[in-house]
Amino acid sequence: MVEEVVKCCKCCKVIEILLGFFQTFTTLTTFPTNFLPLRFTWNCMSEKILVIGANGQIGTELVAALRGIYGSEAVIASDLKSPVYALKKSSGPYEIVNVLDKDNLHHIFEKYNPTQVYLLAAILSAVGEQKPKVAWDLNMTGLLHVLDFSVEFKVEKVFWPSSIAVFGPHSPQHETPQYCVMDPNTVYGFSKLAGERWCEYYFTKYGLDVRSLRYPGLIGWRANPGGGTTDYAVHIFHQALKTGNYESFLSADTALPMMYMDDAIRATITLMNAPADEVTIRSAYNLAGISFTPAQLADEIKKHIPGFEITYAGNDPRQAIADSWPKSIDDSYAQKDWGWKQEYDLPKMVEDMLVNLQDIV
Ligand code: NAD
Repeated sequence: MVEEVVKCCKCCKVIEILLGFFQTFTTLTTFPTNFLPLRFTWNCMSEKILVIGANGQIGTELVAALRGIYGSEAVIASDLKSPVYALKKSSGPYEIVNVLDKDNLHHIFEKYNPTQVYLLAAILSAVGEQKPKVAWDLNMTGLLHVLDFSVEFKVEKVFWPSSIAVFGPHSPQHETPQYCVMDPNTVYGFSKLAGERWCEYYFTKYGLDVRSLRYPGLIGWRANPGGGTTDYAVHIFHQALKTGNYESFLSADTALPMMYMDDAIRATITLMNAPADEVTIRSAYNLAGISFTPAQLADEIKKHIPGFEITYAGNDPRQAIADSWPKSIDDSYAQKDWGWKQEYDLPKMVEDMLVNLQDIV
């Protein structure tokens, strides 16, 4: 049986009609139907996916993944800056975009008429504390511009990432639930919390299909992190391979929720492809990966690089941010609503990072 057809344009309608005929034919005859694929997904050439902030840690990986699924021409990478090496290498459209410049952004929406938009441009937690007003402006105004243009241009789906930074010192720290006290004390955290409220508001008021995840700290080997509190968990791999030692800016026992990038990209695309009525949360879903401390991560790295040594800096302003965040996350809504399941645990992630980075650093 054909369970699902993902429609995006007139050609999909034609395919749908043909499939309808085919199904009618198979029910009217004794033709065996069970050879048909259970899930038929038609990703039409006319799908246009705009990724804003494509040069960053997530964008470089997400653009590659989306181009793998929808084709290079269907995915428009865009950023304030010219493309990083990984994006230059992969073919596909690229645009210089400033999400704060309404005319510039409007022109891009007009030019491509996107069916999906991923907004990744933001200032992250650690940099946000150095430039609080700039962070608030980019994280809020940028989001509102994208939401408004998405309504105006009838964009079918919008993805905007939230973060575990929406939680604060009075939120439960272990297995932090989806709904609880939220009192973030960083500009980044309360810009994300306000952003979640705006997303839900645009869904309720204007019917815009906005979807979001509260990403934990993300770890990947293809791109450098952009100034967050969890960046140590990427830097440590580079230093372990380059020098055999690393000075952590977080203390040995600071547990934080983290996730391997492959899992994060898979979660994002799974959420974006879930049927709309199964997406019951329109603020942002809790998403859990692996929780570990710098000491536990160092121990796992030592299994591969026995001489590796870690030291701890102390007195880093990022420690206070980390102390206000959850140590682990309860993501049961994501599991229940769209079948989320992580693949990478700590040993598997460490092995994959080291294997891939050893030829690069
Ligand atoms: P990043 O800092 O690596 O990348 C952000 C990109 O946005 C950069 O390439 C930057 O040039 C671009 N940008 C900045 N200002 C812009 C503007 N005015 N117009 C257009 N582009 C602009 O960030 P990231 O780690 O890829 O994160 C992407 C999103 O995911 C952000 O919303 C972030 O808050 C969220 N997030 C990330 C993590 C993580 O661990 N990386 C965790 C939780 C949430």
